[in-house]
Amino acid sequence: MSPPPRVIALDGPSGSGKSTVARAVARALGLAYVDTGATYRAATLAVLRAGLPPTESPAVTRAVRSADISLSVDPDAPSVRLDGRDVTAEIRGSEVTAAVSAVSAVPAVRATLVDLQRSLAAGGAVLEGRDIGTVVFPDAPVKVFLDADPAVRAARRAGDVDSGVDTTGDVVEAVAADLARRDRLDSSRVTSPLQAASDAVHLDSSALSAAEVVARVLDLAADAGFARVPA
Ligand code: C5P
Repeated sequence: MSPPPRVIALDGPSGSGKSTVARAVARALGLAYVDTGATYRAATLAVLRAGLPPTESPAVTRAVRSADISLSVDPDAPSVRLDGRDVTAEIRGSEVTAAVSAVSAVPAVRATLVDLQRSLAAGGAVLEGRDIGTVVFPDAPVKVFLDADPAVRAARRAGDVDSGVDTTGDVVEAVAADLARRDRLDSSRVTSPLQAASDAVHLDSSALSAAEVVARVLDLAADAGFARVPA
């Protein structure tokens, strides 16, 4: 039997706080940080740049297979390149956000990107996503499903998009509607839906600070034998 991979799987919906937590945990343990959502976003940008509708088609599969997607896995400086150009900011834009759930529902797209995600994590990593504990690394020694109240998630995401926004106003409502739309699509797709692994530890970050969630994940990691890097 091969040893378990040196990975920590962190799944959950948008706005649950996965990125902040995953980066802090990766830093503390000296592991790579793999933002799998960024791979789906970069693939979606490749599809849009090719002028294709974001639905299942041989052309979409070809566009994603031939796209050169690379990620920096440094938790202090995550970035994404598509065909040699930095697209870190562009993949967070509204065009990609509107199309990403449709592109990521295509099974051949998922197969291509799961291969990439596994290779990025080969030396040990914290991966954040929707299907890490169920599909990408079902034998991960630490699996966490991070969730939060929809209103809390929307307020957080609105803050990410433009800090300084009125977090009680229309912006939060628009973000909440978009999160609900993506949650619905991501949870109902046939291939690898957003789903907690049966052996994942559930954490609700609604009433916890990021530092508290990080501390809990680091406790789970210590129990599984991950060592902290000396401060
Ligand atoms: O994490 P983020 O919100 O950037 O992810 C963008 C989209 O990528 C999600 O809404 C989902 O459709 C897709 N995704 C996925 N599987 C993952 C990570 C992200 O389908 N492991």
